[in-house]
Amino acid sequence: MYKEYEYVIIGAGIAGSSTAYFLSEYSDSILLIDRNCDIAQGASGAAGAFLSPLLGKPNKFKELITSALKFSTSFYKDNILNEITNCGVVRIPKNNENREKFESYKPYMDFEYEEEGEGYFFKIGSQINSYETCRFLAKDVEKLFNYEAEHIKKEGEFWLINDEIKAKKLILTTGADTSLIDEKYFNIRAVWGQKIDIYTTTCIDVNYHKECSLSISRFDEEKKKYKVSIGATHHRFNCDMKVCNHCIKTSNINKMFSHSYGESTVNNDTKKLLKLANEIKNLEDVEICDIKIGPRASSTDYFPMVGKLINSKTTIKKFPHLVNGSHVKNEMLSSYDNLFVLNGVGGRGFVLSPYLAKNLVEHIIKNNNLEETILTHRLFKRWVKKNS
Ligand SMILES: Cc1cc2nc3c(=O)[nH]c(=O)nc-3n(C[C@H](O)[C@H](O)[C@H](O)COP(=O)(O)OP(=O)(O)OC[C@H]3O[C@@H](n4cnc5c(N)ncnc54)[C@H](O)[C@@H]3O)c2cc1C
Repeated sequence: MYKEYEYVIIGAGIAGSSTAYFLSEYSDSILLIDRNCDIAQGASGAAGAFLSPLLGKPNKFKELITSALKFSTSFYKDNILNEITNCGVVRIPKNNENREKFESYKPYMDFEYEEEGEGYFFKIGSQINSYETCRFLAKDVEKLFNYEAEHIKKEGEFWLINDEIKAKKLILTTGADTSLIDEKYFNIRAVWGQKIDIYTTTCIDVNYHKECSLSISRFDEEKKKYKVSIGATHHRFNCDMKVCNHCIKTSNINKMFSHSYGESTVNNDTKKLLKLANEIKNLEDVEICDIKIGPRASSTDYFPMVGKLINSKTTIKKFPHLVNGSHVKNEMLSSYDNLFVLNGVGGRGFVLSPYLAKNLVEHIIKNNNLEETILTHRLFKRWVKKNS
C-alpha cells in the first residue's frame, strides 16, 4: 500500500524545515523525510548558526544575502523570539590589508554600524538555536525519520519514493547529498566544517567575527561557567562523490569522524578554533563541552539552487543547437515535472533558508517568479556550453 501526500520534502535540515513551514500555510498533506533520527542532524545541527551581514562592494550575491538577512532576522524575531539572540556582531578585520578593504566598503554598508575598538559593530548580528528553530519550523507537518530515500521515480502524476511513498510534488532539500539528482550540472560540493562549544569563566557580551566566529556567552548555572560557541573551519576533500558518497551519506552530528574527517583533523581544528577565538578575546579556564562537524552544500558559483530542476536530456533533445552555444530563453528549457530543489545554501544556511523557502513556496503555489541568479538554469547553461 502506498502512502500518498500532496507534498513530500526529503531532508530535514534548515532548508527542508523552512520549506515545510511555509508550505504548511497552504496544505495539510505534507511529509518531511530524513535518514537521521531527528530534525537538524546534518550540517544544520553542526552550525554555529550566526546571522551576519556580508560586507563588500555592491553585487548580486551581496544583494541576495542582504535581502535574506533582513527577511530571516525579522522572521525569526516574529515567530521564535526565544531561539534568536539578537545581540549584534562586531566584525574585526583580520589584518591591515583586510582593514583597508573594510574602509573601502564603508559607502556600501547595507546595515547600520558603529566603529567599536578594532572593529565595526552591526546590531543586525544574531545567533540562532539551530535545533529548536528547525523543530519549530517543522512542527505542523508529518515527519518520517530513520528513512533513507534510496530512489525516486515519476509514475503517472506521482513521484514514487522507494516504491513506497507517493507525492504529487516532491521537494529535495538534501544538502550536500545530491545522489537523488542524476544531473551532471547540479554540481554541489561538500565543504566540511567544525564548530566547538566551550565552557569558560570569560563573559562575552556580543558575537564577534574575525577569522572565526565567537558567540555571546550564556551562563550555565550548574557548571558555574559561561558557555560559548566557536566556529567554523573549512575543508574540501577530493573524493569523487559518484564513486564514494559514504562520508556524506553517513554524516550526522553524533558521529564525529568519517573516512576523510579523521581524529587528527578534529583535534587540529579544535586547536585552531581556540587559537583564533583567543585572538578575539582572552578565554580563561576553558573546557571543551561539544564538537560538531558537518558538510555544507556549496554550489560552484556560491549562489543557491532553487526552484525547478532542469532536465538536461529532454532540453538538449528539444534544443540540440544548445551544445553549439546557441541561446535559449530560460522559460523554454525543459524541467522535471513537479520536482523542486532548495540547495546550495553554503555557509549561510540560516540566513538564506527561510527567505528562499518562502520564495520557493510562492513559486510552487502561486507561480511567482524566482530571481534568475538562484535558478538551476544557470548551471545547466554553463555546463552545456563547457561540454559542447
Ligand atoms: C561547522 C559549520 C558551521 C556553520 N555555521 C553557520 C553559521 O554560523 N551560519 C549559517 O547561516 N550557516 C552556517 N553553516 C551552514 C549551515 O549549517 C548550512 O548551510 C545548512 O545547515 C544547510 O542546510 P540544509 O538543510 O541544506 O542541509 P542539512 O542540514 O545537511 O540537511 C540535509 C538533510 O538531508 C538528509 N538527506 C539527504 N539525502 C537523504 C536521503 N536520500 N534520504 C533521507 N534523508 C536524506 C540528511 O540526512 C540531512 O539531514 C555552518 C555549517 C557548518 C558545517
